[in-house]
Amino acid sequence: ASNKDDHAVPGRVRVAVRLRPRNAEESAADADFADCVELQPELKRLKLRKNNWDTDTYEFDDVLTEYASQKRVYEVVAKPVVESVLDGYNGTVMAYGQTGTGKTFTLGRLGEEDTSDRGIMVRAMEDILADISLETDSVSVSYLQLYMETLQDLLDPANDNIPIVEDPKTGDVSVPRATVVDIKDQLSFLELLRVGEAHRIAANTKLNTESSRSHAILMVNVKRCVMGSEDNVSSENGDPSHLTKPSRPLVRKSKLVVVDLAGSERIQKSGSEGHMLEEAKCINLSLSALGKCINSLAENSSHVPFRDSKLTRLLRDSFGGSARTSLIVTIGPSPRHRGETSSTILFGQRAM
Ligand code: ADP
Ligand code: MG
Repeated sequence: ASNKDDHAVPGRVRVAVRLRPRNAEESAADADFADCVELQPELKRLKLRKNNWDTDTYEFDDVLTEYASQKRVYEVVAKPVVESVLDGYNGTVMAYGQTGTGKTFTLGRLGEEDTSDRGIMVRAMEDILADISLETDSVSVSYLQLYMETLQDLLDPANDNIPIVEDPKTGDVSVPRATVVDIKDQLSFLELLRVGEAHRIAANTKLNTESSRSHAILMVNVKRCVMGSEDNVSSENGDPSHLTKPSRPLVRKSKLVVVDLAGSERIQKSGSEGHMLEEAKCINLSLSALGKCINSLAENSSHVPFRDSKLTRLLRDSFGGSARTSLIVTIGPSPRHRGETSSTILFGQRAM
C-alpha cells in the first residue's frame, strides 16, 4: 500500500530492509546451505525461505542487497530526511535488527580508513554542514544512551538520569541537562562520535552488559536564520498593516534524531533472573512501544501511544505528524537465524 513518492508524505514511516553479506564464519559453517532470504531489489521484494519448497514474499519501500554501498544506503534511507530537516522539519532515522546484522555499521561507521565506508551519521552531518551558513546558522549535537529506561549522556558519563522535558504548549521535546556541542566542522563531529562510542563501551563494561542492550541516540539540532515577515509571527491578530512591514530575520529550529536501537533478538525471559530479567523487560518494553507507535501511524490512528516508554517520549516531536521518519531493518543471511530474521521482517512490515 505504498509507493516511492510517499517520502514526500510526512507522517508515514518509510521502511527499507538491508541484508548484511555473509561473514567468514557463516561462509565456512553454512557453505552447503542457501541464505534464508532472497532479494529482488528492482521489485522491492524480499523472499524468506520457509522450508525447501516454500517462501513468503514481502514488499518494502526499498530493498538493499549485500552489495548496496554505504553511499546508496544513505541516499535511499536518510538523505530525504536530512533534506527536510534542512527545510525546517524534524526527522528520525532509526535502525532495527538482531545484534550483528549491521545497525551500527549502517548508522555509526566513521570510515576513517576508507571514506566510502562512512555511515549515515557522518554523511548526514556532511550534508548539513555543506548546506548551512556558519555565519547565520548553527548546528549542535547531543549524544545519549538509553539503558533500562535511564537516559545517560554519552559525552559526559557522570551525567546520568537525564529527564525528558516536553513543552505542553508547543509539544517540543528536549533534554536540557544533556551536553550540547556546537559543530563547526566534520573533524570535530568525528571526534565527538569517537568519544561517545568509547563512553558507551566503557559504561557497558562497567555494568557488565553489552552495548547491544542499549539504544544510542544522536540528536542534531539545526538553527537557521530565515527571512520572515511580521505576518509570519503575528498573523492571528489580523492586523492589515503587516503588508507594509518589512520582512525580518527569524530563527527556524529543527532536529534530526538518529537511533541505533538495542538488538531486537528475543530475550529469554524465561530462565532469566534478577538484572537480566529486568533488562529484558526494559528492552522489550521500549521496542514494543516503538512498534505500537509505528503501527498507529501506519493505520492513521488518532492516538499514538508515545507515553508508553522513554524512547517513544523522546521521539515524540520528530516522529509522525510533519516529521519525516525512516526505518531501516537490518538482517543477516544465515539460515540458522531464520527465526529472528523473520520477526525483524515482520516488525518492518507492520510499520507500512
Ligand atoms: P549491530 O550494530 O547490528 O550489532 P554491526 O554493525 O556491529 O551490527 O555489524 C556486525 C559486523 O558485521 C561488523 O563487523 C560489521 O563491520 C559487519 N557488517 C555489518 N554490515 C555490513 C555490511 N553491509 N557490509 C560489510 N560488513 C558489514
Ligand atoms: Mg551495534
